[in-house]
Amino acid sequence: MSFTVAIDGPAAAGKGTISKGVAAHFGFSHLDTGLLYRAVGRRTLDGTSAVTAAQTLTAEELQQGDLRTAEIAQAASKVAVIPEVRAALVDFQRAFALRKGGAVLDGRDIGTVICPQAEVKLFVTASAEVRAERRFLELAAKGGDATRDQVLADVRERDMRDAERSTAPMKPADDAVLLDTSNLSIEDALAQAVSLIEVKFPV
Ligand code: C5P
Repeated sequence: MSFTVAIDGPAAAGKGTISKGVAAHFGFSHLDTGLLYRAVGRRTLDGTSAVTAAQTLTAEELQQGDLRTAEIAQAASKVAVIPEVRAALVDFQRAFALRKGGAVLDGRDIGTVICPQAEVKLFVTASAEVRAERRFLELAAKGGDATRDQVLADVRERDMRDAERSTAPMKPADDAVLLDTSNLSIEDALAQAVSLIEVKFPV
C-alpha cells in the first residue's frame, strides 16, 4: 500500500522537523528533497554543470559531508530554477513517494508537481523574521559567523527565487492545508500535522 504525504513551504518554516516527526509517528519513509538540489548545487561549486550533476546524482552523495550550509543553500536555489535539473530529479522522487508503508516528502513543489495525487498535502509557513531567527540559531550552533541580518537577507533572496521561478515555483497546491508555525511550538506544529494525517490514513 502506498500513502504519500507532501509537505511544502519556504526555508526554515519547520517542514524538516515536522516531516521527520510525521515519519517517526506513522513509520513512513522520509525524503528531504532539498538535499537533492543541495547536492547538485554543491557539485556546481567546483565547476560541474548543474544539468550533468543532476543527471548523474547518486544516493550516496546525499549522505556525504554537510549539505546544510548557507553557501550550498544559495547554490541549490540557483540550480533549482533550471528545468532540466528539475526534470532529472522527478523519477527518483516519484518512486520514493510510492514506497510501501507510506512516504513523506518535503520540498517546494511536492504537492503541486511531484505528487499531485498525494493523499495529504501541507504547506508549512512562518514569517520571514521567525524563519531567519531559527536558521540563524541553527547556523550559529554549527559555528557559522553570519549575522542575523545576513541570514534574513539570505532567506528573503531564496524565497523570492523559489516563488518566482517559472518552472515548479514554490506555492501551496489548491488542496493543501496551510500550517503557519510562526507562533507554534514544534510539538504543537507536529501534533497538528499528525491529526490532519490521521483523518486520512487507513489504520
Ligand atoms: O529545503 P532546502 O532549504 O534544503 O532547499 C534548498 C533549495 O532547493 C531551495 O531553496 C529550493 O530552491 C530548492 N528546492 C526546490 N524544490 C524542492 C526542494 C528544494 O526547488 N522540492
